[in-house]
Amino acid sequence: MDIMQQSLIFDIKRYSINDGPGIRLTLFFKGCPLSCRWCHNPESLSPVAQKLYTARKCIGCGECVKACPHQACHLSAAGIATDTDLCRACGACAAVCPALATEISGRAYRQDELMKIIDKEIPFFDQSGGGVTFSGGEPLMHTPFLLELLALCGARQIHRAIDTSGYGKTADLLKIAEQTELFLFDLKLMDAERHREFTGVANRLILANLKALAASGAQIEIRVPLIAGINDDRQNLEQLATFVAGLPGRRSRISLLPFHNVAENKYHKLGQAYDVAGMTAPGAERLQQAAEIFVAHGLVASVGG
Ligand code: SF4
Ligand code: SF4
Repeated sequence: MDIMQQSLIFDIKRYSINDGPGIRLTLFFKGCPLSCRWCHNPESLSPVAQKLYTARKCIGCGECVKACPHQACHLSAAGIATDTDLCRACGACAAVCPALATEISGRAYRQDELMKIIDKEIPFFDQSGGGVTFSGGEPLMHTPFLLELLALCGARQIHRAIDTSGYGKTADLLKIAEQTELFLFDLKLMDAERHREFTGVANRLILANLKALAASGAQIEIRVPLIAGINDDRQNLEQLATFVAGLPGRRSRISLLPFHNVAENKYHKLGQAYDVAGMTAPGAERLQQAAEIFVAHGLVASVGG
């Protein structure tokens, strides 16, 4: 696949109102270098297409087994079992499934295909002050493709937002910043070890990138997913607020996003264990206290997107 011409997208959400100003079209790139334990888009993590299967929809007809050119699935007592080593996510099974129990997550799009989809939304963008948000997964994993899309949107004067973990090459981020009106930048944990424990990577690069991005003059909204007992403690929030308040450039707004336990079905569709036992959103009082910590550092903070 020529990455300058195509990129893998796992979802396209119209009429989004939580991914930046106005009514937005959000494109979700597939692939993420992080693996946050609380991730609500587990299908975003792998950079390749994946088969999803919903057992409760399956009627056990066996059509998918016959259609699979790689002998990757078979009918078991629990429904269809797929050997992920053999599965090529070719979609032959999904094409014949009469119950829509099987689907493929991740489709390669060319830029002109995406621009056709984007262009249809321009009246909504114009009426609402909205635009396009590039999310994921991690958009920085698709930088060459993304830069061209940003340029095409810019030529149409469409507002452009990037939703990022900040984990990528600094040079890429700064190139992207030249063609982006708003960054939605996730910050989770300030303690390096805990960051690695809960997201799979260290936070040094993320923090350095945020500093570099802020110094470039980019408009940034910091997004903090809040999970009770993991990152809602005063120490983490104080460190986070101190770091953000000390950033160069324009003052960043803070959005506190309480954890929502909504992804269980997605993990089941991927055949993966849903391991968020004990993860909950902080209570209302805790959320209020969290917002107050940021406000005390001279920042504008709100709960929600
Ligand atoms: S996606 Fe293709 S390879 Fe995978 S189980 Fe379905 S038909 Fe077989
Ligand atoms: S084709 Fe669909 S309904 Fe039939 S066995 Fe396969 S997944 Fe189940």
